Amino acid sequence: MGLWQTVLGEIELSISRGNFMTWFKNTSLVSHNDEQAVIGVPNIFIKQQLERKYNELIAETLRKNGVEAKEIIYKITSVTKQSEPDDEPVLVSPSSSFATSTATQTSVNRPTASLSHSYRQGINERYTFDNFIVGSGNELAFAACQSIAVNPGTKYNPLFLYGGVGIGKTHLIQAVGNAVVANNPNARVLYVTSEQFVQELVDAIRFKKTADFASYYRTTDVLIVDDVQFIAGKEKMQEEFFHTFNALHQANKQIILTSDKPPKDIPTLEERLRSRFAWGMSIDMQIPDFETRCAIVQTKAQTHNVELPPDVVEYLANNIQTNIRELEGALNQLLAFCEMRALDPDLSIATSVLGISKTRPKHLSAKQIIERTARHFQIPVEDILGPKRDKDIVVPRQIAMYILRSELHLSFPKIARELGRKDHTTAIHSVEKIEQESRVDADIRAAISEIKDRLYA
Ligand code: ADP
Ligand code: MG
Repeated sequence: MGLWQTVLGEIELSISRGNFMTWFKNTSLVSHNDEQAVIGVPNIFIKQQLERKYNELIAETLRKNGVEAKEIIYKITSVTKQSEPDDEPVLVSPSSSFATSTATQTSVNRPTASLSHSYRQGINERYTFDNFIVGSGNELAFAACQSIAVNPGTKYNPLFLYGGVGIGKTHLIQAVGNAVVANNPNARVLYVTSEQFVQELVDAIRFKKTADFASYYRTTDVLIVDDVQFIAGKEKMQEEFFHTFNALHQANKQIILTSDKPPKDIPTLEERLRSRFAWGMSIDMQIPDFETRCAIVQTKAQTHNVELPPDVVEYLANNIQTNIRELEGALNQLLAFCEMRALDPDLSIATSVLGISKTRPKHLSAKQIIERTARHFQIPVEDILGPKRDKDIVVPRQIAMYILRSELHLSFPKIARELGRKDHTTAIHSVEKIEQESRVDADIRAAISEIKDRLYA
């Protein structure tokens, strides 16, 4: 495996998938010596972001892999020029294992040649129509997305999908992006979360690159903005988004948006955006019904080459009723447990590993969660809320954020505020990090479950 690919593999584990895809895709290690490591990047936005936010992480990860350069330089390189064998498989590696069958893999992988294409920003090929299970709750959204993928910009513009956390919104809109590029490798498809949009605009203003920013966004064929509720309340952002929206809509370019609520219920969203969001088609996505959840569990287990007994499938589908991400998490936890011990999953293992049979009342406050987490780790609450970056403070802080998210379903900005933090991207990182680690790290799992048990005791 190439050096840069190894570095990317490690970086991917420490930041959220969305950020990884957005900022690290199409990067390369151009050269390195004791003085300098030169990282090739596809555009100015990525350059700025890497310099601003990820420089330390990159330097540290390079160091761990034997590159002791004093300085890291980011250089805009055209993607096609990259010749290092290192660079190519970057995007394909982590995600391809999710493809469901050989047939799917071929169709998923076909657009690989164009993957290094800089227009395919933010799309993760793990999310396809093929591996999305359709059932009550998501069938309308699925149909609309498929129809858009065939003819972007013609019907349903914008498409606005809304609904609770973990029910497949991101999966579906990413699948549209993948399908559009598969049909037309030259299509410019851009996926961003509204948080990334905001961050990029802030950077563009700061570095006096707003014209670049505008033209970057306004020349896409398909613009996908995930979790658009986070631009509410930010005037300058809404203004810029309004202009982007208009430019694209007038040019019959497809716009796809998601949110946790319908446009009319997003507080402090400007009226002109609210009305535009409702111009096309708004679809309410619901958690799939029991049968569909069973099919999801079964299919996901099969991608890991495991055939689950029906009672285990039903146990999972029955006990996790609100969130497919949690359902997947529980399945992964069970599979990891069994794999490490070479056991075949059965109902009693599932019950003991997941311990989700208790019904839990929900009268928790954010404060209780933070206090309980601090107490569990025997550190003062002020440390969790304060600036310290020691590992024995950072991990409890991340766990507190994770529990705030999983138990109270708070938004990331709200979680950040509860922890006395200004930047909500920290909350996103933390939650995703704990989500990932709890799948593989039994100590973290034990800590979380003990904290929760006490909270609900
Ligand atoms: P949302 O954006 O609504 O919060 P996601 O799209 O991120 O939710 O979905 C959460 C997880 O559940 C993802 O890993 C996704 O692949 C999976 N998922 C959701 N719905 C389905 C489905 N119908 N079939 C297969 N996987 C699904
Ligand atoms: Mg999402």
